[in-house]
Amino acid sequence: MALIVHKYGGTSMGSTERIRNVAKRVAKWARAGHQMVVVPSAMSGETNRLLGLAKELSPASSSPELNRELDMIAATGEQVSVGLLAIALQAEGLEAVSYTGWQVPVQTDSSHTKARIESIDDARVRADLAAGKVVVIAGFQGVDEEQNITTLGRGGSDTSAVAIAAAMKADECLIYTDVDGVYTTDPRIVPEARRLHTISFEEMLEMASLGSKILQIRSVEFAGKYRVPLRVLSSFTPWDIDINEEAKSGTLISFEEDEKMEQAVVSGIAFNRDEAKVTLLGVPDKPGIAFQILGPVAEANIDIDVIIQNVSQDGKTDFSFTVHRNDYARTMELLESTVGPATQAAKVLGDPKICKVSIVGIGMRSHVGVASKMFRALSEEGINIQMISTSEIKTSVVIDEKYMELAVRALHKAFDLDQEISA
Ligand code: ADP
Ligand code: ASP
Ligand code: MG
Repeated sequence: MALIVHKYGGTSMGSTERIRNVAKRVAKWARAGHQMVVVPSAMSGETNRLLGLAKELSPASSSPELNRELDMIAATGEQVSVGLLAIALQAEGLEAVSYTGWQVPVQTDSSHTKARIESIDDARVRADLAAGKVVVIAGFQGVDEEQNITTLGRGGSDTSAVAIAAAMKADECLIYTDVDGVYTTDPRIVPEARRLHTISFEEMLEMASLGSKILQIRSVEFAGKYRVPLRVLSSFTPWDIDINEEAKSGTLISFEEDEKMEQAVVSGIAFNRDEAKVTLLGVPDKPGIAFQILGPVAEANIDIDVIIQNVSQDGKTDFSFTVHRNDYARTMELLESTVGPATQAAKVLGDPKICKVSIVGIGMRSHVGVASKMFRALSEEGINIQMISTSEIKTSVVIDEKYMELAVRALHKAFDLDQEISA
């Protein structure tokens, strides 16, 4: 008998019919003798709908008070899901009980709308499992020290599931979604994208951090820290397929550097449309300038991603960086009102219509010329590169948003990602 955590995303929970299917699948696993904890997301579109209602009443960008209420509202989406799923499981003849995050409790810090899980008390869940119940726990949410409801950031149900699996030392955490695994890139953008049988933990971490929304980055971090066996698979296969076949399907996140693993130089392509670029032109090129610019930005709690500083001419230089698009207006205001004048910048420029496209692969460590191959493929499509950032296992470029799909397709082809790798 194993302890298994299943997570079902919004599309998988999208209608009562689909919830019934989820229940049948979970029942199959329970009847095979496993202890089951199930973590569903809100029904698809529900989180957007709820946050949209809030926005109608307060278009103001963000404040701690507003964020607290956004969490209060958004958490209801998952509360509905757990109740419905528990009812569907009971209708299948199983004993099932649902809990919200605070009932477990899933303890988080107080950063509303992007809270971090600090601890999970599994006593109540264990008692239910011991009594033969299937336990359904709301994803995406927790509770802080002051009993405020918190949420974990968009896509956060992945993190709930992996964190629960880690806390309970589950034998496996299965992330059921609307595609049948992790692909070389988003199959909705590149139809030739290929499913990976395994992906290394490091590559998955990079893919998620570079914008691939198949798994929330924090879920991958948890899986790495606690070595949670993690698999991404489809909830759209017939629920009654053979359980052993199902258990081997999809994509396994692997922690071993297995020789036999698909050792492509580049394993995948990620993209991120959520960033914006800002530039300070003609700032003095002197020690401390980067700190003078980025210090106030950090103080304003604005995260920075890619940074470039040009070589100087006549003692002046240009300085660009990217921020999340939600922070674009705030960043521009800060640069125009204080940082620009304080650094004697000649001009402040902004461009919210950019995107970041990245190639990822542990094989890049041992191969040269990978980045230049990327730049050539982009130049052949006439795509201008605005910024470049590299690390050991990835190269990212910032380009005009309108070329994103073209760039992803061109790179997918250039690195032969549509070809099966011979072992
Ligand atoms: P869920 O609601 O199940 O959490 P998400 O929409 O959050 O589902 O994530 C699944 C989606 O992630 C897929 O439908 C796909 O469009 C997208 N995606 C992005 N990159 C990849 C990738 N490399 N492999 C598979 N899917 C990807
Ligand atoms: N329902 C939340 C969202 O839409 C969490 C999730 O789906 O993982 O972001
Ligand atoms: Mg998701």
